[in-house]
Amino acid sequence: MKAPPLAYVRARSLAEVFALLETHGDNAKVLAGGQSLIAALNMRLSAPELLIDISRLTDISGIHVRNGSVSIGALTTHAEIERSPEVRKYLPLLAQAAPHIAHPAIRNVGTIGGSLALADPAAEWPACCVALDARLVIAGKSGTRRVAARDFFKGLYATALRTGEVLTHVEIKIPGPDYRSAFVELAQRRGDYAIAGLAAVAKRAGGALMDLRLAFLGVGQAPVLARGAMAAMEGKRVSTDTITAAAKALAKDLDPAPDLYSSAATKLLLARVLTGRALAVLGA
Ligand code: FAD
Repeated sequence: MKAPPLAYVRARSLAEVFALLETHGDNAKVLAGGQSLIAALNMRLSAPELLIDISRLTDISGIHVRNGSVSIGALTTHAEIERSPEVRKYLPLLAQAAPHIAHPAIRNVGTIGGSLALADPAAEWPACCVALDARLVIAGKSGTRRVAARDFFKGLYATALRTGEVLTHVEIKIPGPDYRSAFVELAQRRGDYAIAGLAAVAKRAGGALMDLRLAFLGVGQAPVLARGAMAAMEGKRVSTDTITAAAKALAKDLDPAPDLYSSAATKLLLARVLTGRALAVLGA
């Protein structure tokens, strides 16, 4: 199938984007890398009257380190994040997760902003942003606001973005030198969306894990912070007993829906396996 007839504008500034969004409201959609939106248009799952191409807005692209934080522009591609020396140094979780996103051709064009705005529950960046306690910078005609990643994802393909707003940056405080991270995922084939995945971050203190964050993907309608498992591990060393306790706690943390390949019980089992793998990395 082909996309329905629509108008197209290549925006030259954010101000132009806001003005167009104000005029056209929900009848307009912003186009970033197009790796999800173009497919949705071609399948007639989305039928906007106007596409606003933001891909040339260089001021919301690129990776910058300043004041103890890493700022990633919404138009930064998955591949740029994967290859960034700053990301490897300061946010290794993102470098670990990037190779799991689709295939190189898609990673060369798809953007972190597009992935976060789309909010696919099996996508890697949303869970990573929750695990890293990222702030998402959202701009609109009336100004800019910041939303914690854990408050941004509202449900299946639903976010805190309002009509007329654009996601412009992701801000992540650089974790201290004692922090470790692990990204683990299970998919049918390399490059497929995850059946289940886990972004994990913790501080290592005298062999114990502190400030642990376990953010799952693929097992809920949005990224899920496994608070029970996190509490079960907090301040403890990684051992067979503590991994078992954390894995057990997942029964209350997660309520996965079955998908085409896996039952809810299988997803919970896979989440437990991933928890053991991630904790082993954090504790090593
Ligand atoms: P677009 O397709 O341009 O836009 C997606 C949506 O976000 C649209 O609704 C658009 O209006 C909105 N949007 C885009 N940018 C902004 C912004 N700055 N502010 C507000 N709204 C915005 N993704 C994964 O995470 N993991 C995978 O394993 C994976 N596998 C894939 C496999 C295939 C075969 C394909 C085609 C895609 C796959 N993807 C996967 C999706 C890919 O990562 C997309 O690039 C990403 O989801 C969307 O980014 P984009 O820049 O292409 O956004």
